[in-house]
Amino acid sequence: MQAHRTFDPVPLQHDPSRSPRWQMAGLLLWVLVSGGIFSCSSDAPPTQLLIENVNVVDPVNGLLEKRQVLIEDGVITVVADESQTVALSSDAERFDGQERFLIPGLWDMHVHFVYDANLTDQMADLFLDYGVTSVRDTGGDIEQLAELRRTLPLPKPNIYISGPLLDGKFVVYDGTDPSRPALGTGVPEPGDANATVGALQDAGADFIKIYELIQPETYAALADAAVERDMPIASHVPLMMTADTAGPKAGSMEHLRNIELACASNWQELLDERQQRIDGFTEGLGHTLRAGLHSDQRLPAIAAYDEKRCNQVLDPLIDTIQVPTLRLNTMTHLKPFERDDWPAAVSALPQVTQDAWRARIAGLTQIQPVDPTFARWSLFLIERLQARGVPIGAGTDTPIGLGIPGYSLHTELELLVKGGMTAQQALFAATVTPATFFRIENEIGQISPGMRADLVLLHNNPLADIRHTRGIEAVMVNGEWVR
Ligand SMILES: [Zn+2]
Repeated sequence: MQAHRTFDPVPLQHDPSRSPRWQMAGLLLWVLVSGGIFSCSSDAPPTQLLIENVNVVDPVNGLLEKRQVLIEDGVITVVADESQTVALSSDAERFDGQERFLIPGLWDMHVHFVYDANLTDQMADLFLDYGVTSVRDTGGDIEQLAELRRTLPLPKPNIYISGPLLDGKFVVYDGTDPSRPALGTGVPEPGDANATVGALQDAGADFIKIYELIQPETYAALADAAVERDMPIASHVPLMMTADTAGPKAGSMEHLRNIELACASNWQELLDERQQRIDGFTEGLGHTLRAGLHSDQRLPAIAAYDEKRCNQVLDPLIDTIQVPTLRLNTMTHLKPFERDDWPAAVSALPQVTQDAWRARIAGLTQIQPVDPTFARWSLFLIERLQARGVPIGAGTDTPIGLGIPGYSLHTELELLVKGGMTAQQALFAATVTPATFFRIENEIGQISPGMRADLVLLHNNPLADIRHTRGIEAVMVNGEWVR
């Protein structure tokens, strides 16, 4: 029996030498530029648009200097170096890239449009402001989400929706508490799974999202029903299961949460206890049940971390994208509201949301001392996932946990790098990896012929410093400059 090893904590302090003052400069310039050079139009795009003199940053191939990128009818058709002649029609438009840096449009793999009703209508615009051109809504009322996606005016990001969190007999997000709106619905029996998934697809769902109190038989039945309908699956690790048994059936798993429970040397004992408590829970709130299990098991499990066992847990996840939401997992410790660029970003939100968040921040500031264990564990796990070849995707859970739509994705990229990814790997996590979840990686996520022209023009090279993704000069969706 190998003694369990503790994990190596990642230092959590902000690095004062990395002042974000330049970010403000970038933001200001962006504001000037967005109001000036580009007319924010929804006119029909030109048949051909040639972006010249631009450095292409491809998440797969890295930096390609001084390229010309031809866009026709919303699709990239040519990426050529300067010496090549690109055949253009007489009405083709030319755009001087001024040696700036072009990246594929970014994804946020984990958002909730209907979590805060005051933000719902504004989120799409905020995503575009920050270069987020595709999002995956991972939980909310399907009718409301389908209607929102249909009626949002152009330009808007590509929006993929799951409908509600599919939970067990007890539902964590059942709407009884205003702080937890009714994002979830119960699927108490395996026999309910097929009809539930069918109804969601009919209502417009692109994928399904499974939650933490689901029973293992129902989890399997939901997965079968989704596979039959060619719908990808996003899931939390159900508390009745472990990450290695649930993960292989899902295309993505969220928050890294409950992986720690399976990586402990006494994982079986912890699982037995969870199963008994869930099966013995006959009255009360789903939220209370889940919160009790998390608070009783999470920190002891991290203390009992066993690397060999954890490798056995992670290896079956080779095809299951982990969406760490590091921003959320670290927020009690790496407080987002202490960042220098926070005041400007938060001021774009409706006043009612700003007021509510101010109260939330006051509450957070009062929690002393903050236990940094789960934050450190989450950052530590990035290195372990990479070591075992588990794919990682960028998502934020915005607007949950003070997540400013769009802005929070850039924080997430920074934290992925802090966890050990290179800047290029972090970009890959926000472009190519999300596309693979929907099996559309041949259509979106790179700058190469045949790809959709969702693009972000940056002032500086994000491969040199991932924070350069914030210095946005222009955003293109479907071949049209929208910012
Ligand atoms: Zn979420």
